Amino acid sequence: MIWNPKIELMPRKDLESLQLKNLRSQIDYIYSNSLFHQRRFDENGIKPGDIKEIKDLEKIPLISRGELQDAARNGDFYGDRLCVPESDAIMTFAPPEDFFYPQEDIAVVAAVTPDDQAKVVEHLTRDWMMMGISPGNLVQVLCWAYEALGFAFTNPSHNLMTPSVGKILGCRVIPLELFAPDAARTIFMGLFFKPDAIVTSETSLMTLESYLMPDAEGNVTVKVMISETGEWTVMEDEQISPKGMGYERIILRSPIYEQMVMTEGRRRELSKMWGAEIYSLLDIQDNLLYAAECEARKGLHVWEDAFVVEIVDGDGKQVNDGEAGKLVVTNLFAKATPMIRYNTEITASLTKEVCSCGRTHARILLS
Ligand SMILES: [Zn+2]
Repeated sequence: MIWNPKIELMPRKDLESLQLKNLRSQIDYIYSNSLFHQRRFDENGIKPGDIKEIKDLEKIPLISRGELQDAARNGDFYGDRLCVPESDAIMTFAPPEDFFYPQEDIAVVAAVTPDDQAKVVEHLTRDWMMMGISPGNLVQVLCWAYEALGFAFTNPSHNLMTPSVGKILGCRVIPLELFAPDAARTIFMGLFFKPDAIVTSETSLMTLESYLMPDAEGNVTVKVMISETGEWTVMEDEQISPKGMGYERIILRSPIYEQMVMTEGRRRELSKMWGAEIYSLLDIQDNLLYAAECEARKGLHVWEDAFVVEIVDGDGKQVNDGEAGKLVVTNLFAKATPMIRYNTEITASLTKEVCSCGRTHARILLS
């Protein structure tokens, strides 16, 4: 099913015109409202009017995470990037580079306005429906317990905005945390609610798997230790397998710091083990980019009415479609902390062929 057929199926030529129109107005907006971007334009002798085509983006140097960090060393944690009055930035967050092993001495901060939030919700609604979530579904959104509170606020795609997506789609969303020593609770809650779908990360799913271990006969018993009282007993005699959890579809959210490429072998393995359809969702939080697979699962669709994605070589020049390079993202709708040519450092290629699902928006192929 398609949430927004007018946009999602828009003929390629019309889509490219819309994208270019949005790019030009966003560049004007950013130049007029962000000291950070204005400075970069001026230092490189670029005027907003110089960006007439997508190819002209090459004139603008790539933005690295290090440059954003350096900009924030002046005491303004937005690094002069905030384009709206502070009171309009309803949510300010610091997406980590590496959640498990943070090595950064200064955070990179992003923010959203109410309009930015509405756009993200629209994109995620398209994504969820594209990945087969239907009205009436129960959707479990699972994150790590130690992320739970911060995550609800720092990851727009995962917790904070999903009830809004559920409201639009007519789904019920069950937020749930996973605390590894107490994974039985998560498993128990899954069995209790019997959700149709789970949105989680591959590491969380692997943790659940490790608690659903088969014995010599191929049966499985949940065996978990809890730190103070020893073996968890509630589930002791229950025979449960990953399939027994009953998920019809599993959406694996891959944040930039936990990037996992879904190979067809791995997808088949997970699908067989869980008896579910497996989908990938690439999550680049600080650009508000969420790229998802359709039923064809031949790459991650990126909404080109809202983004320009480029694949570039070592000099920041655009390579041909199908050639590998670094994934660079320009956000065309964000009004709080927009970004032009952010280098994600992710290796990928791009295809703009119309997909078998009918959508005309480009697909990112991770490699
Ligand atoms: Zn498709």
